[in-house]
Amino acid sequence: MIRIFVNDRAVSVARGATVRDAVAVLDRELAELLGSGAAYVTDGVGRPVDGGDAVREGGAILRVVVSARKGPPRLSKDVLRRWPKAELHVHLDGCLRPQTMLELARAQGIRLPADTPDALAEALHVKHAKSLEEYLTKYEITLSVMQTAPALERIAYEFVLDAAADGVRYVEVRYSPLLHRPSLTLAQAIEAPLAGIKRGETELRGAIKVGLIVCGIRTRPAAESLELARAAADYRTAGVVAFDLAGAERGYPARDHRAAFEYAAGHGMACTCHAGEGDGPDSIHQALHDCGARRIGHGTRLGEDAALLADVIARNIPLEMCLTSNLHTHTVGSIAEHPFKRYLEQGVVVTLNTDGRLVDGISLTDEYFLAQSSFGLTKQDLARVVLNACESAFLPEYEKVALVSRVQSELEAL
Ligand SMILES: [Zn+2]
Repeated sequence: MIRIFVNDRAVSVARGATVRDAVAVLDRELAELLGSGAAYVTDGVGRPVDGGDAVREGGAILRVVVSARKGPPRLSKDVLRRWPKAELHVHLDGCLRPQTMLELARAQGIRLPADTPDALAEALHVKHAKSLEEYLTKYEITLSVMQTAPALERIAYEFVLDAAADGVRYVEVRYSPLLHRPSLTLAQAIEAPLAGIKRGETELRGAIKVGLIVCGIRTRPAAESLELARAAADYRTAGVVAFDLAGAERGYPARDHRAAFEYAAGHGMACTCHAGEGDGPDSIHQALHDCGARRIGHGTRLGEDAALLADVIARNIPLEMCLTSNLHTHTVGSIAEHPFKRYLEQGVVVTLNTDGRLVDGISLTDEYFLAQSSFGLTKQDLARVVLNACESAFLPEYEKVALVSRVQSELEAL
């Protein structure tokens, strides 16, 4: 049993119980109001939570708000999970299944910070990070079990299954093959996840399409980024769709890695770049103007430079935004301060992404639910965001048109 608080009353529920179950333990009538939409539940700081969510351990606090008008949220997570979605910004090394990590660690003789799936997920959760730099340290733990080709293949395969189960029809997943050396060559480190992706796609018979993005790392020498861009370009007909630059942003300018971007673009690869997350708008400016990025990873701080914002709108540069991750890295102080809705209204091509499903403790469905409940987005707004992601995919034009029309007709049929 776990003990939580509902409306300031201690309630004991079985492990795995939902928020709805916990409310029913406290008060059946309240649970009925919740079921009819006349009440909704928030967490301790007032963020709406879904009735179907599992209750988290460790003295979680829930409040049931009874509302005359139908309060948020409009669409439940069950409904949003069935929505067709696309995701453009998610790190493979942030998306392992905890159980898989434990199995891989055992087989490879590696010590992890916990030995049950729940405790491991909690240990890897970045919610207590103080900065982007601290957030990135969690990845050292996941990467420790990802140093063999079979492990990388399995992790990529399971990622595809998990994304499809979350209603994702198209996803671009990224990682840096550099972080799998010296145990693997760059070629092995690229071929293994491509094989896992192919296995997942084949097994799911076209339910999901997946592209791989290769990331250079800002804190590593520019020569390594160039080497990566070359390796990535060699696999551009085998599933690698783009080149990216990731890692600690402040003090490590993207323009130092310009040669890698030039090589990638010169060999028919699309480019994106993390920017405006750990540093300000100048970093976004560099990504666009010095490195030729066609999308921006995060771009949260874009609005600090009005001219740059206008330029991004005029050029239809998509932003790969990650709300929960931005909270975890303290890029924004609170969800209310996040510029996502303002950008959407100003005409920026904004998209919603998880960044890391395990380390951020969310699914893409959770991220859509958060956007809906925090910003009061309508169904039309959410559909716009889904289509923004489809239209911003790094796919050949004819494949993109096919994706957009498939998702559009699925949205219309809802
Ligand atoms: Zn990222």
